[in-house]
Amino acid sequence: MHEMAIAQSILDIALGEMDRRAATRLIGIKVSIGEFSGVVKEALEFAFQVLTPDTRASDAAIDIDIVPLTAECPRCGPSDCRLNDLNFLCTACGAALILTGGREMKVEYVDLD
Ligand SMILES: [Zn+2]
Repeated sequence: MHEMAIAQSILDIALGEMDRRAATRLIGIKVSIGEFSGVVKEALEFAFQVLTPDTRASDAAIDIDIVPLTAECPRCGPSDCRLNDLNFLCTACGAALILTGGREMKVEYVDLD
């Protein structure tokens, strides 16, 4: 379950930001996770809850936004693309699609006290 490692890095980012702003308590954190990153939202929420007790983030709420997978064809432009289309080929011309979104993993903001 790589969500545990991801939750740990999210927590590290939040705690680092708290140090930088001399905050005592993390109220909430918002993260964006690409649909194609392989992260299971519920597993990440759970991992975060497991890691936060006894930290300054003990009562923090985590808000996870799933960014949908998007792709475009070099010839036809934006293309419909689904996660289970494992070959990622353009349905119109068969060219390999370029992923334009859905792989990101980013802390959007932290709410501190
Ligand atoms: Zn195409």
